[in-house]
Amino acid sequence: MNVDLVVVGSGFFGLTVAERCATGLGLRVLVLEKRDHIGGNAYSEDEPETGIEIHRYGAHLFHTSNERVWEYANRFTRFTDYRHHVYSTFKGRVYPLPINLGTICAYFGRAFTPDQARALIAEQAAELAGRAPRNLEEKAVSLIGRPLYEAFIRGYTAKQWQTDPRDLPAEIITRLPVRYTFDNRYFGDTHEGLPVDGYTPWLERMADHPNIEVRLGADFFDLRDDLVGRVPVVYTGPLDRYFGFAEGELGWRTLDFEMEVVPTGDFQGTPVMNYADEDVPYTRVHEFRHFHPERGHYPDDRTVIMREFSRSAGRDDEPYYPVNTAGDRERLRRYREMARREDGVLFGGRLGTYQYLDMHMAIASALGLVENRLRPHFEKGERLISGGVDR
Ligand code: FAD
Ligand code: UDP
Repeated sequence: MNVDLVVVGSGFFGLTVAERCATGLGLRVLVLEKRDHIGGNAYSEDEPETGIEIHRYGAHLFHTSNERVWEYANRFTRFTDYRHHVYSTFKGRVYPLPINLGTICAYFGRAFTPDQARALIAEQAAELAGRAPRNLEEKAVSLIGRPLYEAFIRGYTAKQWQTDPRDLPAEIITRLPVRYTFDNRYFGDTHEGLPVDGYTPWLERMADHPNIEVRLGADFFDLRDDLVGRVPVVYTGPLDRYFGFAEGELGWRTLDFEMEVVPTGDFQGTPVMNYADEDVPYTRVHEFRHFHPERGHYPDDRTVIMREFSRSAGRDDEPYYPVNTAGDRERLRRYREMARREDGVLFGGRLGTYQYLDMHMAIASALGLVENRLRPHFEKGERLISGGVDR
């Protein structure tokens, strides 16, 4: 095979590795992608009836405070000035998220100053009595008190994770900030925006290099014996699958999306509405037109919505979010040891490291892999061996 490097998977991790190796190191790179399109889960396409850009694998919002990633991303796309906001419906009323002073005032039905709200929440979080939170429920109660936890987090999290919040790690909830101001921007990063002409054109520009060949519909496992040991491989598929599930399956959550073209110009007045009540079967509804208010060509009598349902993933489902129970972490430790012994193969990305990685994290991690592993290998002949699993 006339290539210097094989990259398995064309998501942001794989394409960043491919682009940097082709452009920066002058290597010939073959990207294998088992789907019929590039881009991994960030892939987007126009809904044919309305021309509205939809994100097939769930809404993707780009945000980062990493200057290197921001500069790198801007080589391939310009960004709109979109700022993400989310609302939550609970028992027929709508509240702003993430939990902020506006949520607290609306939920308790009166005006609080920031100090009054802090005092109220401290009182409602007192049940932990200063003890370190051991799981998601305890962490959430320590941050926002029990009443807000039970309204906005418990039902939503139970629906989203299909796991008792007391069995989930505390870190999941620390992704959501709590603010004692009326600021309800969802992300606090320095840079935020959506690609002006969509995700897929951005991803295509990353792959557009004479030294990069992307082979679609190509499953690495059909070619594995011809590749491993003969050419360096960067693998971004599922870690447990690579080792034939020898240590058991790592737990994932998958999503089912129900898309609908609705005969109105505006279905919900906002891009994302969460549903906190446990008896509403979906977790949230996305309305894609609101991601691009600047686009003048969207119809004003139809809109595209997508209801999101969450469940545990079977082996044939798309793995979306690592569940990360204690059992998963133990299996992961053993898989990482196996990965370390796999000469000539580097593991990376969301599936290859069994980690929730946002796009900017996947790009940052891939840039690091190129500089710390691939460049020393190709320029100085250093042995290509995974230092565990590269994050
Ligand atoms: P992926 O995008 O998953 O790409 C991996 C690729 O490898 C896939 O294309 C897959 O088909 C391919 N592959 C796997 N096995 C094989 C094989 N055997 N042979 C060939 N190809 C194979 N990030 C954000 O920054 N903001 C968001 O709002 C956001 N929302 C998200 C919502 C959802 C529902 C999900 C799942 C993710 C979201 N992300 C978001 C993260 C983002 O989609 C990517 O997961 C992230 O950029 C990491 O990319 P990746 O390249 O590691 O993985
Ligand atoms: N979460 C919640 N209620 C909400 C939104 C989020 O309980 O209305 C919890 C839930 O457990 C979720 C976590 O906070 O998994 C992180 O939320 P985020 O919006 O970052 O989840 P994602 O969009 O990545 O699924």
